Amino acid sequence: MTKTNLVVGCGFSGASIARKIAEELNEKVIVIDAKEHIAGNAYDYRDKNGIMIHKYGSHIFHTNLENVWAFVSRFASFNTYMHKVIALIDGIETTIPFNMRTLYDVFPETMAKRMEEKLLSHFEYNKKIPILEFQKQNDEDLKFLANYVYEKVFLHYTTKQWGVNPNEVDGAVTARVPVYISCDERYFQDKYQGIPFKGYTETIKNMLNHPNIEIRLKTKFEDFKGAYDRLFYTGPIDEFFNYKYGELPYRSVHFKFEELDMPYYQSNSVVNYPCNYDFTRIHEYKYYLDDRSDKTVIAKEYSEAFERGKNERYYPIPNEASAALYQKYSDEAKQLKNTYFLGRLGDYKYYDMDKAVNRALEVFEEIKNAVSY
Ligand code: UDP
Repeated sequence: MTKTNLVVGCGFSGASIARKIAEELNEKVIVIDAKEHIAGNAYDYRDKNGIMIHKYGSHIFHTNLENVWAFVSRFASFNTYMHKVIALIDGIETTIPFNMRTLYDVFPETMAKRMEEKLLSHFEYNKKIPILEFQKQNDEDLKFLANYVYEKVFLHYTTKQWGVNPNEVDGAVTARVPVYISCDERYFQDKYQGIPFKGYTETIKNMLNHPNIEIRLKTKFEDFKGAYDRLFYTGPIDEFFNYKYGELPYRSVHFKFEELDMPYYQSNSVVNYPCNYDFTRIHEYKYYLDDRSDKTVIAKEYSEAFERGKNERYYPIPNEASAALYQKYSDEAKQLKNTYFLGRLGDYKYYDMDKAVNRALEVFEEIKNAVSY
């Protein structure tokens, strides 16, 4: 008799593993989600003006992983959008990560040129330098530059985003936005980047569109009645174990949406405000798919502490204490038979979408190999 799989969570991780099992093992898969929609935090929808809104903040698909790109491309075609982020530094619009072009936006030309020469003589072209490492400079000009970038791009943004001093934020997080010794002003350098023409919700709907897959929304794991042979859990791993060792910490965000009676509000899809205001950035969604409307929709993003029952989990907070706590849950998870954890919340990892898909593909390989023995 065919096996039944239960997948908890309908985001990229859950949808990817569900599809692989349904298609390649020809087994039944039930996918449940507590939310009333599929696609998890990648959920998007067209509003009444025809603008595609990313409900949980901007999502840009980018990857160097050929297998992930091949898999996802089966369910969506993507535009050739290459993301840039504008930051407002001392009232000047420039691109970040801080790069060679940024130098010329924020400094007088002679000074920018001097800095540029110093950077090129000290670092390899195309190198990405984490900001905390960039601070370790002996040269006076570079020291000045490092302090400038730290203060203007990094310190206040990171404090707003994480609620703590940058020294308390894990290096892997802060290295996501390095100093880039390059004229490449894009936010990502991946080979494949883009936004699905029909949106993320449609992409995930296509992934789940298989005769062996059944979707049940507004269904919590604890309310699920029914038997299953394998469980794939993309929800919070600490919740699964009833918080027996304590709660894993998360950062949350909330968005203040505004519909404005103007074609465009800002010059780019995302504008960061590292030093000003309480929000970290403003998203303007119509840029992603070049939606045409006389109106525009923006979302101001505010970072806040995650509190159970009050808001959503967005970012795991990687540090020594949370790693030790996660390890306890992970050790216990390994004892369970036919139970697999994946996704940002299941693995407690700051995955981008492509890494979440990749992890699902890896978990599938594990199962496939076990089945063939
Ligand atoms: N960051 C910063 N200034 C910026 C943008 C990002 O200091 O203008 C730092 C900040 O610590 C942030 C991290 O880089 O949490 C990662 O930013 P990213 O844009 O990758 O975050 P995401 O888009 O995943 O929310």
